[in-house]
Amino acid sequence: MIHGEKTMLEHGHTYFNKAADMLGLSDKIRTILLAPKRIVKVKIVIEGEDGRLQNYEGYRVQHNNARGPMKGGLRFHPSMDEDHAAALANLMTWKTAVVDIPFGGAKGGINCDPMKMSRKDLFQVTTRFVQEMKEVIGPTTDIPAPDVNTNAEVMGWIMHEYSQYAGFSPGVVTGKPVDLFGSEGRAAATGRGVMEVLAEALTEQGKAYSDVTVAVQGFGNVGSNAARLIAARGARIVAVADHTGGVSRPEGLDVEALAAWVAEHRGVAGFPGGDAFESSKIVSWEVNILVPAALEDAINADNASEVKATIVVEGANAPTTPEADEILNARGILVIPDILANAGGVTVSYFEWTQNVQQFRWDEARVNAELDKRMSASYRAVREVATEYGTDLRTAAFVLAIRRVGKAALARVHIG
Ligand code: GLU
Repeated sequence: MIHGEKTMLEHGHTYFNKAADMLGLSDKIRTILLAPKRIVKVKIVIEGEDGRLQNYEGYRVQHNNARGPMKGGLRFHPSMDEDHAAALANLMTWKTAVVDIPFGGAKGGINCDPMKMSRKDLFQVTTRFVQEMKEVIGPTTDIPAPDVNTNAEVMGWIMHEYSQYAGFSPGVVTGKPVDLFGSEGRAAATGRGVMEVLAEALTEQGKAYSDVTVAVQGFGNVGSNAARLIAARGARIVAVADHTGGVSRPEGLDVEALAAWVAEHRGVAGFPGGDAFESSKIVSWEVNILVPAALEDAINADNASEVKATIVVEGANAPTTPEADEILNARGILVIPDILANAGGVTVSYFEWTQNVQQFRWDEARVNAELDKRMSASYRAVREVATEYGTDLRTAAFVLAIRRVGKAALARVHIG
């Protein structure tokens, strides 16, 4: 998909190159670090429950494995294509490095629309995908996980299908059901990480959760859990929007009731506990904190100057275009970038994989405590680099990640 003049991958390269300039990286090293290791595209044809053929494309882009097995989600969305997979795979490499977990980066998915498919068709499509990808994924090579429109159930199917081929392999995928070698705390982990880095930013500014109002864009796994956990810390969630509509309440929405509504109605539209508004207005809502937790490009050159929040926490991947990022920085708005803010999910994926390898289970309190510790430490590490280089948190996160990945890559082979 073309985003204005540039592809999503080019957007990612803009951020990478800004940090690479600060580090004085040569073109040779940049090429080595940016080039994906492997790009796989497969055809998925199934006969649906209604007897008609359904025809999809599946992708897996394996970007970098200098620091360990490649890691990243599977997105089932009509917009999924090679550009998305490549851009998101790239982000995963830097994300795993920012939180310092021993993984590289990958991403993939299928250009299908699960909202319009039966469970049986979804199962068939997932199974076909694994059959086509089984040689390139694996517990020590590339480990998928949930992303947009995929969940624990789909991960369970993947584990089962892969194990038919390779033998019992719980570590081939993370985000599995807790009853099937998944980890306690994984489902809420990305939202919890958002809450934790935001806590760090607020402390830095001498504020408390009870002082702030929050607007959340997207109410899927990330948005709903972030909203729930941030509200539980005392903040007021005054507006939430998703692809079906928006709902607001100045005194604070009842997030648990909203989650129950969304589970039943597949969207926030019609929720009786607030006033309806048109979704796109969420970006310019009069609040202290904005959490974009939907899809890419939500904050762009057209609306960045209208953002009222003073802190933007990127729950989604790539929700801010580089043009918008410049505008937000120039306006003094603190942006906590995706590769830091939403890294809680992949961090608990790492804990899940560790538990699978050890055939051992951690309780939820341990998962959450380890996650909180790692997210706050990562925020502080990024802040330290930002101070050292006199730059924003996104560029600092890229600097930190590039340093770590670069050192690992250079330590492996002789590059003259
Ligand atoms: N899809 C999530 C992300 O973008 C999680 C990836 C994972 O757990 O491997 O970070």
